[in-house]
Amino acid sequence: MNPIMISQVKNLLSDKDQPIAIVTHTNPDGDALGSSLGLYGFLLLSGYKRVSVITPDRYPSFLQWMAWEQEIVVADQDQAKAEAAILGAKLVFCLDFNGINRVNHLEETLRNAKGKKILIDHHPQPEDEFDIVFSNTNVSSTAELVFYFIAALGGEMTMDVRVAECLYAGIVTDTGSFSYGCNEPKTYEITAKLIALGVDGEHLHRLIYNTYSADRMRLLGYCLSEKLKVLPEQNAAHISLSAKDLKRFNHQEGDTEGVVNYAMSIENIHLAALFIEKEDHVKISFRSAGVVDVNMLAREYFNGGGHRNAAGGKSFDSLEVTIRQFEDVIKKGQLKK
Ligand code: 5GP
Ligand code: MN
Repeated sequence: MNPIMISQVKNLLSDKDQPIAIVTHTNPDGDALGSSLGLYGFLLLSGYKRVSVITPDRYPSFLQWMAWEQEIVVADQDQAKAEAAILGAKLVFCLDFNGINRVNHLEETLRNAKGKKILIDHHPQPEDEFDIVFSNTNVSSTAELVFYFIAALGGEMTMDVRVAECLYAGIVTDTGSFSYGCNEPKTYEITAKLIALGVDGEHLHRLIYNTYSADRMRLLGYCLSEKLKVLPEQNAAHISLSAKDLKRFNHQEGDTEGVVNYAMSIENIHLAALFIEKEDHVKISFRSAGVVDVNMLAREYFNGGGHRNAAGGKSFDSLEVTIRQFEDVIKKGQLKK
């Protein structure tokens, strides 16, 4: 962490009574929530009295065990409260996203916020709309960066097991349980410190991964047996779900989380996509292996972005047209290594 920027942040944090907001991206995942609540907990434990955590929308039930989760202001449910917290804050921490449009219907509010915006994030190409930027694409997760941030502020001893659990959840979910994006020894050193603080890794794994509803498990089975299409020539595969499919399996927030990764488990598949038909758009998740760059694919063709090997986007065409467009792009070989 850049020491000049850290000393700027220390100055900005000198008043413990000032209002502070922590904002994360739309469709919050384990890292979005874990890094935000970890920072929130740390600030509370450090004596800051007026801190808010805001998410644009709801998050999956398998993340609802985190400490302080009940205190999150979900803009979808209380837009006025979310806006007031952001507009009233002297400091706005922006966690796990690289562009203001990632906060969905809070975009205007965040742009208009007068407080200093501090970005902590690990996505490539952060926009220059933030006042202080802690961005590093070589770390596993924003949660890992929040650990460094807290340590750089001299707060490592202030962390308790609840903060550690939040940060651990961020690291575990953003690395697919330590299977990608975690080839740096540092990640394991941080993880060891979190375990030393009392995190029970096995217990958290069960809370995050072994709490499927029967409907969710059946939806996964249906995806794999009925909806998976393999394009061997392109080393690619995709899965698509219509609104009707989702209804059939009583779809709940988070039920399709991780589905795209199964396509990546097929031998010789280096690119996978998951298409989900929403009310007014198709939501897309991309995953890739090695040098296949899905951040570029999402940015160029599907109004999105993300990391090189994990990205997302959306399309305003029909499900069928969107899938055809994806197949056309990869058949033209525009993604070849
Ligand atoms: P997921 O497929 O799990 O929704 O997202 C994978 C990664 O891509 C995450 O890091 C997420 O932040 C990013 N991502 C997902 N959707 C979008 C999008 O619409 N725009 C951008 N810029 N990033 C996205
Ligand atoms: Mn992340």
